[in-house]
Amino acid sequence: MRGKYANIIVDISHEKVDRPFQYRIPPHLQGKLEEGMAVTIPFGKGNKELAGYVMEVTDQAEYAEDKLKDILDIRVGDMPVEADFIRLAAWMKRNYGSTMITALKTVLPVRQKKKTQEKRTVTLKLPVEEAKEQLAFYEKKHQTARARLLKELIGQQELSYELITGKLHVTTKTIQALAEAGICQIRTESFYRDPVRLEKQETLRKRLSAVQQDIVEKISADLQAKKPGVHLIHGITGSGKTEVYLALIERVLKNGKQAIVLIPEIALTYQTLIRFFNRFPGRVSVMNSRLSAGEKYDQFERAKSGEIDVMIGPRSALFTPFPKLGLIIIDEEHENSYKSESMPKYHARETAVQIASCHAAGVVLGSATPSLESYYRAKNGEYFLYEMKERLTGGCLPTVYTVDLRQELKEGNRSIFSRKLQELLTERLNRGEQSILFLNRRGYAGFISCRSCGYVMKCPHCDVSLSEHRNGTLVCHYCGYEQPKVSVCPQCGSKYILGFRAGTEQIEEQVKKMYPKARVLRMDADTTRSKDGYEQILSAFANREADVLIGTQMIVKGHDFPDVTLVGILAADLSLSVGDYRASERTFELLTQAAGRAGRGNKPGEVVIQTYQPEHYSVQYAAKQDYEGFYEEEILYREMMQYPPAAHMLAIQIAALAEEGGRGLAERLAEAIRKSQDGSVRVIGPAPAAIGKINDIYRFVIYIKHREYDRLVEIKDFTEELLNGIENRKETVYFDFDPVNAY
Ligand code: ADP
Ligand code: ZN
Ligand code: ZN
Repeated sequence: MRGKYANIIVDISHEKVDRPFQYRIPPHLQGKLEEGMAVTIPFGKGNKELAGYVMEVTDQAEYAEDKLKDILDIRVGDMPVEADFIRLAAWMKRNYGSTMITALKTVLPVRQKKKTQEKRTVTLKLPVEEAKEQLAFYEKKHQTARARLLKELIGQQELSYELITGKLHVTTKTIQALAEAGICQIRTESFYRDPVRLEKQETLRKRLSAVQQDIVEKISADLQAKKPGVHLIHGITGSGKTEVYLALIERVLKNGKQAIVLIPEIALTYQTLIRFFNRFPGRVSVMNSRLSAGEKYDQFERAKSGEIDVMIGPRSALFTPFPKLGLIIIDEEHENSYKSESMPKYHARETAVQIASCHAAGVVLGSATPSLESYYRAKNGEYFLYEMKERLTGGCLPTVYTVDLRQELKEGNRSIFSRKLQELLTERLNRGEQSILFLNRRGYAGFISCRSCGYVMKCPHCDVSLSEHRNGTLVCHYCGYEQPKVSVCPQCGSKYILGFRAGTEQIEEQVKKMYPKARVLRMDADTTRSKDGYEQILSAFANREADVLIGTQMIVKGHDFPDVTLVGILAADLSLSVGDYRASERTFELLTQAAGRAGRGNKPGEVVIQTYQPEHYSVQYAAKQDYEGFYEEEILYREMMQYPPAAHMLAIQIAALAEEGGRGLAERLAEAIRKSQDGSVRVIGPAPAAIGKINDIYRFVIYIKHREYDRLVEIKDFTEELLNGIENRKETVYFDFDPVNAY
């Protein structure tokens, strides 16, 4: 009889047991086991009952019959893993470094006990006549948000909470205030776990522009191929990319296939989702990090059973088990959130390409500022490239002023606002228009620069900024190079060479001091800590409850404010100095996006970029909104320094409770890797990580560069083997291929 034994991966994440173990299939399970099923097995000396996944059913005993244990049972309720997913997990394990079980768990939905979900609705409590009186009162008082909500409630019997906070831009606070005043009532009821309950709206189908039509035709033709390719759409914001996605999905569905759309969590707004729901009513589901494991599982079940055809969500939506996947779309493909921060540290882009190739599906990437990786591949012919250069809704690009902060200092202005920015801000406040002040806070890590000439202290070997450490030394986080702090600028001799320290709070204080009448909102990690904080601030600003919005990178994404006519970028070069080879790319991307926030409506916008390095290419190209120019210059730097995408990079991170142990192991690994490889492999470090100690755990990092990805995979395997040979190892080691952040 076929299938007497099963090779099983045990549900323990430990390198030592990260291989299949063989078990006997007992008579009552014979013929019932399939690859990917979850089973219960006895494990180890104590025969502890553990879960495991069947990797293979075979007649080939690898050990003597009497040495094998019996499988206990099939775990009902656990979704069996398709062979596809096992292969995908194996691919992730190999290419990103992790145990098989961790990789499996990344691609599998976890079944949990069903928890009933709640749906919140708001209904009018007052009689209609009274409500109308109240409405007139709000209107007279210019309480626009309240008036809007009340008006809608008078017109409709019931509104969903999501609709109110989303489309109506009314904050939770306002709803609660109305409820407390006895005007409306908030009801909570349970409903089947279906996160998509948006009412269909009638919208006119847009006629595609010639550019859009052309792209849709070309990509659709390619989707018919046996092996569809990867398509990169480089299109400015508002150029109509989403409309192209919709048209492509429509064709995919017509062919009886399904589509996955990845959108960064922060951009999963009502405005975006509603377009998909309207276009494919009842066929779309959304995944987000707020869903419980059980809800995610439900969504996957619905996808598998054919109940839905389109899944929208962040990174993890990639693993939706559609029976006939036809297309994967990744919007805002340059976003760092597409890279996983836990093991396996996979990138959604590469993983999407891998998944697509198993299904003969196509991949479409879209961005206004594509990642260097994608653009490089498009230029090399690996991806197809499409350009969309015009905004379809009209509205011209904003006027950009670049202000040299060194000059401001020379002329005696020590405020964080340049004279130009003050002038324009005053103008906006007088005219009653809105402004955004953007603090590029990524560079807070303590780099040192000269206020007088803009000089930044850099590592002589890696060409990235040095970071100031508490003990006063300046350190490179790639190679560990160290030098004492300087007190005068090596370039101009000024003594104004120091770390930049200004946070959003200080800016808020300054604005309030200079413009006591201005209504100010601040959005940063502190003010958005609560679950609805982010949404509340955005709706309040959209409701024109404030004149000025101050914030970090959070404010440059995902939301449109048509009344904003001024964007001030306070210190553009902060992110240029994060001690990371991607600093220029990120700066260009943030500046371009921030600048794009101004003048979305019909009033023209202005942008002030304040910087100590006005001559820096990422500042200059961002001011001109010239992606191509930026790319050409940046790729030269990557080629010269052999940073990705010109080469590949593997970061090996060592985490240890004991500092000496950690450093010792890091040195030992670096040494062994150096010895085992030829001169084409560059081993850099070890160095202490940027944050050398987190929660009492010391962290060290080794960087390895090589042109060939596979060579780095070999080095990872070699390192794993070394690690397995060390008894009682106390340190933990993580692998990160082509890291998006410096450690
Ligand atoms: P992107 O995704 O590139 O930011 P969108 O697809 O969201 O661009 O389009 C931007 C705006 O232009 C939206 O308001 C959209 O409704 C509108 N739009 C897109 N395509 C067309 C078209 N063919 N005709 C008219 N308006 C369009
Ligand atoms: Zn100087
Ligand atoms: Zn260095």
